[in-house]
Amino acid sequence: MARRFADRLSIALANLRLQETLKHQSVRDALTGLFNRRYMEETGGRELARAQRHGQPVSVLMLDVDHFKRFNDVHGHAIGDAVLRRLGSVLSRQFREEDIACRYGGEEFLVLLPGCTADAALERAEVLRQAVGSLPVAAPDTEGLTVTVSVGIAATVRGSGVLSDLIAQADQALYAAKRAGRNRVKLYGDQ
Ligand code: GH3
Ligand code: MG
Ligand code: MG
Repeated sequence: MARRFADRLSIALANLRLQETLKHQSVRDALTGLFNRRYMEETGGRELARAQRHGQPVSVLMLDVDHFKRFNDVHGHAIGDAVLRRLGSVLSRQFREEDIACRYGGEEFLVLLPGCTADAALERAEVLRQAVGSLPVAAPDTEGLTVTVSVGIAATVRGSGVLSDLIAQADQALYAAKRAGRNRVKLYGDQ
């Protein structure tokens, strides 16, 4: 009986572990370990509603790696992947627990900052941009190799209170940063 109980217990534990793994996979991006876009969209709407109820701002940072296609073409996709993983770890270190940093797709990342004003978001984006610019690539024979990023910011005070609109505004600001020459931060409404 003791053996049967032990068998059942180990099956139950294996199931629990599997459930945890599946849960992790359903909200996280496999390459970077950041949240995935679906998770950000699901929780972001709620965060935005909560912040607005409390009269607090929310900022969104949209970040895109500059000339990443060329980088992949020159150095190969494996080194490109190493760059994205590095970026993921910088993003998860630089932001607070309550911020939602996600891989939005490809080489684009989005960070939702509840309670963060446009000015504070600008400061944090600038710190991030500079940190990325001096980031070594975690792969052999890549010394001196770095990438730059462009960042677009939208905030609820000037911007929209609807998550999809706020993201679209951050995206517009990102394209303004690209047009202005890349490797820079732009705030929606300031272009
Ligand atoms: P821009 O400065 O205008 O953003 O130029 P770009 O080359 O970064 O823009 P584009 O959107 O043309 O290219 C994005 C590239 O990102 C294309 C693709 O090779 C690369 N990419 C997307 N996802 C991944 C990935 O998971 N791993 C690697 N290594 N590369 C990826
Ligand atoms: Mg892109
Ligand atoms: Mg790009």
